[in-house]
Amino acid sequence: MLNIVLFGAPGAGKGTQSEKLIQKYQLQHLSTGDLFRMHLSNGTELGKLARTYMDQGHLVPDSVVIGMVREKIEAHKDSKGFIFDGFPRTVPQAEALDEMLTELDLSISCMLALDVPEEELKRRLVERGKVSGRTDDQDPEKINTRIQVYRNETLPVAEYYKKQDKFIPIQGVGSIDEIFDNICSKIEEHAK
Ligand code: ADP
Repeated sequence: MLNIVLFGAPGAGKGTQSEKLIQKYQLQHLSTGDLFRMHLSNGTELGKLARTYMDQGHLVPDSVVIGMVREKIEAHKDSKGFIFDGFPRTVPQAEALDEMLTELDLSISCMLALDVPEEELKRRLVERGKVSGRTDDQDPEKINTRIQVYRNETLPVAEYYKKQDKFIPIQGVGSIDEIFDNICSKIEEHAK
């Protein structure tokens, strides 16, 4: 099984590259942001709770995220593999993910980390806000908060995978196809 953590700041291109990877390797996409947005549009209690954090640009509490991910992994444990997109976003989430996978006799293959300079991230998020309808992309203050939260709470997750020798940096600036080709060659190198 190929289990990839796709890592990067908000706006780094995780969603775009995930779509292409899923097609090529037939993986199960597990985007916590998408799952929360689905709960929001279905008006579930989980969605209502998540909204209070998402609207501020803050992280949803670990226990809520982990429970939601666990259900999704268990429902798809027979797939060819997972792409974790937007998760784990804190070290406790990374630890919980390892535990969940170990219970199923699975493990993370590698972390692919998209590297994009901060000015470019902000530019992309503002552009996405014009077309996506995502309120968290339409307010410069919320964008700044999310980037700050990323630096403080999420960057340590990269260290977690570096220690396990699973960290693979990817240049996140360039054409979508160039970045994708680069990702695929790293996966194939690593999978050998
Ligand atoms: P982006 O990467 O563009 O910030 P996402 O769609 O991944 O957007 O996430 C949107 C929001 O959903 C986040 O700002 C956060 O509030 C919440 N969220 C998503 N994934 C997680 C997670 N793993 N842990 C906590 N909160 C999360």
